[in-house]
Amino acid sequence: MTKDLGKRSFLSVAADSSFSLQNLPLGVFSTRANSTRRVGARLGDFVIDLAFLEARGLLGTAHPVFQGPDLTAFMALGHLAWAAFRARLMMLLGAENPVLRDDSAALASCLVAVSEATLYLPAPIGDYTDFYSSMEHARNVGIMFRDKENPLLPNWKHLPVGYHGRSSSIVPSGTPILRPHGQVKGGEEATPSFRPCAQLDFELEVAFWVGKDSELGLPIPLSQASEYLFGVTLLNDWSARDIQRWEYVPLGPFVSKSFATSISPWIVSLEALAPFAVEAVVQDPEPLAYLRGTRRVQYDMQLEVLLKTGRMQRFERISLSNFRNLYWTMDQQLAHHTVTGCNVRRGDLMASGTISGADPSSYGSMLELAWAGTKPLRLQETGESRIFLEDGDEILLRAWCQGDGYRVGLGDVTGVVLPARKI
Ligand code: MN
Repeated sequence: MTKDLGKRSFLSVAADSSFSLQNLPLGVFSTRANSTRRVGARLGDFVIDLAFLEARGLLGTAHPVFQGPDLTAFMALGHLAWAAFRARLMMLLGAENPVLRDDSAALASCLVAVSEATLYLPAPIGDYTDFYSSMEHARNVGIMFRDKENPLLPNWKHLPVGYHGRSSSIVPSGTPILRPHGQVKGGEEATPSFRPCAQLDFELEVAFWVGKDSELGLPIPLSQASEYLFGVTLLNDWSARDIQRWEYVPLGPFVSKSFATSISPWIVSLEALAPFAVEAVVQDPEPLAYLRGTRRVQYDMQLEVLLKTGRMQRFERISLSNFRNLYWTMDQQLAHHTVTGCNVRRGDLMASGTISGADPSSYGSMLELAWAGTKPLRLQETGESRIFLEDGDEILLRAWCQGDGYRVGLGDVTGVVLPARKI
């Protein structure tokens, strides 16, 4: 498939905008003039009001699915309808199509400047799972936390390791992050104490949304997994490393990660990512049959982390990674998640785990970038250094696929660290 579909909109979109006509991610928004939460698509600097276009009969839906308050009604139509709708919307917004282009009244009603829109979580999130699918990240953490000689645990190459996270504290981009308190025990200390987290970190991740219910007791075969993938979103899994280090054995992270998780407000479809599909890494040893398939796909998507301290004027890049670095695919994650018969539901969110590459400049967390505090990061603008996040620090995650003259991006995820509450 060519990376340039030759499609342009009658609305102008900057070449470096993440939201080209080839993207058209979906989200939920409201405006001051109309406080109803409803579904919109993003194109350039506009939110296209799909509730309005649907009510005008321009979207071909048999019954209303975009009127709000979230995306679950549209998800329920199924993967063939998702793809058909995307094609229809691309056509409606295409430069050659006069239907909307030449209807200035309709245009005035359906175009909302993104600066005028309030964005929400796209759907109520039922269950949230976080995987651990980047080998470089798992290896780095293994070296720092456990055993230099055997950084990967014996199961790691046989199954996509994950843990059940917490959906109640998933927040949209821009929500400030309160530094948590928790129970911590330093290596030299005899007993634990209760104090504000001193090792607050981010994790660069991409998450997929489940768009279809599965049946309890019936695993999703790898070959059918893609029918359940509604789209992807950028995610920051805020992590309290000092709390995590003390609590995580033997059942994994608990309150060290459940205090906040930030996501971008847009869901990018798998069809929009398709031109950027690349062959996934060859797995050795070969996994068991239920995790083996012909569609071994990752996506060539640049991932960037930027930091701005309270004293800085501008964001500075601290990491450049790529979605294709993952060892386990989304299909494998979903097949494994359901292999014992666990059902999934529309609105479930499943994150990749921190996405680190082989090069130190591509590490997806502060823990790895500053190598557990031994290699402080120096920031150019102010000369400040960081080993973990301090109060007033703001993290910005970005993600985009680069086509010929256009981009398909996931939308920013930001969050500023606020001082711990006084207790
Ligand atoms: Mn994580």
